[in-house]
Amino acid sequence: MENVITLAHGSGSIQTSELIDKIFKSNFDNPYLTADDAAVLPNDTGKTAMSTDGFIVSPYEFPGGNIGKLAVCGSVNDIACMGAKPKFMTCSYIIEEGFPVEELEKIAKSMGDTARKAGIQIVAGDTKVAGKGQVDKIFITTTAIGDIVEGVNTSGAFAKPGDKIIVTGDVGRHGCTILLARNEFNIDADITSDCAPLWNNIETVFNETKDIHVIRDATRGGVGTVLYEIAHQSNVGISLESDKIPVDPGVRGVCAMLGLEPLYLACEGRLVFFVPAEVADKVVDALRKCENSEKAAIIGEVTDENKGKVILNTAVGARTILSRPSGELLPRIC
Ligand code: MG
Repeated sequence: MENVITLAHGSGSIQTSELIDKIFKSNFDNPYLTADDAAVLPNDTGKTAMSTDGFIVSPYEFPGGNIGKLAVCGSVNDIACMGAKPKFMTCSYIIEEGFPVEELEKIAKSMGDTARKAGIQIVAGDTKVAGKGQVDKIFITTTAIGDIVEGVNTSGAFAKPGDKIIVTGDVGRHGCTILLARNEFNIDADITSDCAPLWNNIETVFNETKDIHVIRDATRGGVGTVLYEIAHQSNVGISLESDKIPVDPGVRGVCAMLGLEPLYLACEGRLVFFVPAEVADKVVDALRKCENSEKAAIIGEVTDENKGKVILNTAVGARTILSRPSGELLPRIC
């Protein structure tokens, strides 16, 4: 096999089957991944969640992960937020002619490893090769489906005054990592992406209580954007305690230098929960026992007043409205 991707790899020729067998099948191996036109999957009764997402992150490899790991985590976490246990996934690769096969192999391996960790099987896929300059290196789209756990009913529209707001760890690490990986600012900081599949964390919470109103992963736009989305969807106000929001000191330092708000930097391994006050401590305790949510914390609550707004309360007693950034803060972070 050649060591860079050529147009022949995407032509449906002998090179295409070679690429699929060697790079994808070997890494994604499971009984549902066949050579047929579509994957044939067992049926379940009840409700299914399904979500799709395209990934164009630049650079495609970064401290803490790569585009393959990110593409699995992104779709897995989206269905998990609806209370669905990840089950099956499809993926579509668009690769630029000349892309090193060795790099593709690393990405596929990381995708396979992350899928196994998340408990999802990659059952179908597609590869297209675009001519040089027609696409930037590699783009991946994934679609995930899973069955919703019985008794669970979450939605961004279900937040209620009095709910406690929980974040599962320090915020803004993924966005900060990508920013630094581009070397545009000449800042040296030891920061890795939080990119992780989070179904285990959610399932652990469900084992304690299914009385959860909202779960959302704080990806593009960060925790700040998620909070505004929920405030609008549920027509409620949100009151945050700034000193309770976990931020890695490295991320805080970079944000201070560049004038960025960590609440608006993307996470790829953080969830925001809205839960009734009486179960909040139980949920935090359960999360703290899981990998990737050891630093879970209650950061605020839902209010009847200030509908549609997010209010920040500082330790010294000041109250401000969390201002919303306009336009694209940071392109191609996921
Ligand atoms: Mg999401």
